[in-house]
Amino acid sequence: ISGVHAGYDFFYFVLQWPGSYCDTSSGCCYPTYGKPPSNFGIHGLWPNYNNGSYPANCDPNNPFDVNKIQDLVSSLRTNWPSLACPSSDSTSFWQHEWDKHGTCSESVMDEHGYFQDALNLKSRINLLQYLQSAGISPNNAFYSLTNIKSAIKTGTGHTPWIECNKDASGNYQLYQVYICIDHAGTTLIDCPVFPTGACGSSIKFPTF
Ligand code: 5GP
Ligand code: 5GP
Ligand code: 5GP
Repeated sequence: ISGVHAGYDFFYFVLQWPGSYCDTSSGCCYPTYGKPPSNFGIHGLWPNYNNGSYPANCDPNNPFDVNKIQDLVSSLRTNWPSLACPSSDSTSFWQHEWDKHGTCSESVMDEHGYFQDALNLKSRINLLQYLQSAGISPNNAFYSLTNIKSAIKTGTGHTPWIECNKDASGNYQLYQVYICIDHAGTTLIDCPVFPTGACGSSIKFPTF
């Protein structure tokens, strides 16, 4: 696989709101190195096809090796924390994302490039600031899905997709934000296709 024939069309850059991972009935566990910032964290950079399907687990011969990203670990701990239980140092989350999704991008970026690219995108895309500029804050209040999407579009220039989950009481809430990135991993684009799944028209933005 090489060049324009590499096996995917674009990326979803997926960010998660930790408050929405944690206030579910299953709960969450903070990393062993402490509570992450009250900010969006990276979930993954996911190669996707324009028809909505996606490749996964593309190269079992190129498994995650934390030694290749030692210089990024400190930034990854802050920007790509795992909230899954039991508590971990987050490397198992990074390993899962590289093995499942990252190996499908290896025609364009190696392991170090993949994590560096995700961190670069994260630093360029300040979702919390875009939302707060529109008066949308993580304070357990409910906000209109339309207003949330408009605020992010004003910030990034492109309409995002919002994935909701449910809190322990069954309320839909802002869980993940999908931003589309070109094949090279550098330019924000209009999404060729959107995911699916339900949100209410008014959704909770929980504290963290
Ligand atoms: P879920 O079933 O919870 O929506 O997704 C489970 C996992 O499947 C995600 O965390 C991600 O690894 C993968 N996944 C789900 N939807 C998509 C998609 O549209 N594109 C890609 N590339 N991966 C997805
Ligand atoms: P996906 O396949 O959905 O990209 O990745 C989800 C996998 O990563 C699941 O096995 C989940 O347990 C694990 N994981 C570890 N930490 C986190 C986290 O903070 N958020 C999410 N959504 N999944 C996590
Ligand atoms: P429309 O295309 O008219 O904005 O929305 C069509 C349907 O998709 C409506 O039910 C709307 O609530 C839902 N929808 C629109 N945008 C999103 C989104 O970003 N996330 C989710 N989960 N549903 C959305």
